[in-house]
Amino acid sequence: MRATFRGDKMAAIRVPEEAMVISTHTLTGGCHCGALRYECAAPVSKPAICHCTSCRRTIGAHAVAWMTVKRATFRLLSGTPREYVSSEKVVRSFCEQCGCSLTYAHSKYPDEFDLTIASLDDPSAIAPTAHIWMSDAASWDRPGDGLPQHAGWRGAT
Ligand SMILES: [Zn+2]
Ligand SMILES: [Zn+2]
Repeated sequence: MRATFRGDKMAAIRVPEEAMVISTHTLTGGCHCGALRYECAAPVSKPAICHCTSCRRTIGAHAVAWMTVKRATFRLLSGTPREYVSSEKVVRSFCEQCGCSLTYAHSKYPDEFDLTIASLDDPSAIAPTAHIWMSDAASWDRPGDGLPQHAGWRGAT
């Protein structure tokens, strides 16, 4: 039987930042209006909160929590996301009806893409382990959660 987080209210899984793979469960999620629904099997990895200008302006929020999923394990159950090329090698997708952002895909990594943790049915299931692109953060955007803060990508200073 397929396990999901829906209704389970499992506690968030917190692991050291280096331990990239953090879930062995199937996750479900979707957009606000319900047009887009998906499920995503393990593994998911690298959950991080991005503060970059590109995320800020495409999503309209000061920071966005992402996790990386394998393309082969992601299944769209309903709807067709609208795609937007936000930079030369990056395609983002969102619901054209309600605007909810779902994915970030970089052509350098064709087998995986990032998925918004906030679109999960239970976003508490996956806890981010770092802040990235703090160099782009607004002056009032100063996380106080104690997670590592990187100026650029994770691993950079
Ligand atoms: Zn929608
Ligand atoms: Zn970003």
